[in-house]
Amino acid sequence: MSREPFGTARGQPVERFLLANERGLRVAILTYGGIVQSLEAPDRNGTLVNIVLGFNKLDDYVQRSPYFGALIGRFANRIAHARFSLDGNEYELPANQGPNSLHGGTEGFDKRVWQVRHADHDRLHLQLESQDGDQGYPGNLEIQVTYIVSKENALSIEYRATSDQPTVVNLTNHTYFNLAGEGSGSIEDHVLTLHAERFTPIDAKLIPTGAIEPVAGTALDFRMPKRIGEHLRASHEQIVLAQGFDHNYIVNGKEGTLRPAARVEEPSSGRVLEVLTTEPGLQFYSGNFLDGTLVGTAGAAYRQGDGFTLETQHFPDSPNNPAFPSTLLRPGHAFESTTVFQFGVTSQ
Ligand code: BGC
Repeated sequence: MSREPFGTARGQPVERFLLANERGLRVAILTYGGIVQSLEAPDRNGTLVNIVLGFNKLDDYVQRSPYFGALIGRFANRIAHARFSLDGNEYELPANQGPNSLHGGTEGFDKRVWQVRHADHDRLHLQLESQDGDQGYPGNLEIQVTYIVSKENALSIEYRATSDQPTVVNLTNHTYFNLAGEGSGSIEDHVLTLHAERFTPIDAKLIPTGAIEPVAGTALDFRMPKRIGEHLRASHEQIVLAQGFDHNYIVNGKEGTLRPAARVEEPSSGRVLEVLTTEPGLQFYSGNFLDGTLVGTAGAAYRQGDGFTLETQHFPDSPNNPAFPSTLLRPGHAFESTTVFQFGVTSQ
């Protein structure tokens, strides 16, 4: 493990930690936002390249990042009309995307400097205290996130949160991948499998309608391996609304058990990413809002579809949809979840 200064944010020094194993997985993480700033994984010839979108400078993360690599909280994805009620109390949140709250508000966990509890060659344990009323949410919340690089080329993320008052929590990591290499162009040729029979349809503001629908027979169906590009410009209403894929899939199997959620294969490099999670949902976002104005780590401009995210999560807007799996966290209980990004190569 190495650690080095990475500038200053909010008057606090930021550090960059490098975790690695002997098989070539190298992950750089910032204490600012707990951001995965770079991730190098071998291709089928053992060549290492950085396969996550990001920046070289802290200032770019502070000023203009669309959540590249960041930890998201208190509430990943959207809360409709930036409000919810809990135990008869109404809570108002900062609206930072039209009338809605996105990714924890204007000053979400992606914009905080996290404390380092423990650092080793293969793990980094981060902690954040979020005060009662932070971004409108009730309760003093303590959040712990541990990144672990395994000998088998996996990056695991373990989340834990506790509160002294009833509150809602939905935590994720917002890494954008391009398995051919960051800055190498479109992800349309990546072949995706999603272990999901169902998804939560959205309205024009990307808020769940409350319905749960099967993917079978639609352009959103990734139950069998499919090129991301195949239906990226389909006329299916859901894909038109999101200008691509930006949907919460319901991961097959039981919430709370670590099970496969997604598999992505990149034919030219042979790199494979498998995602496992204990979370009930997975947001597949095809980088629709990248518009060429951001210049990434290696100097290339990021255009629409140059990266994708697989954000393991509870369903968007759960506090306003009682039928969705609950995001309620009460004192005396802990929110716990695990996500594993397993890297490999195809056998050819
Ligand atoms: C959302 C997208 C959003 C992106 C970056 C994703 O989680 O679903 O709609 O554009 O984050 O903000």
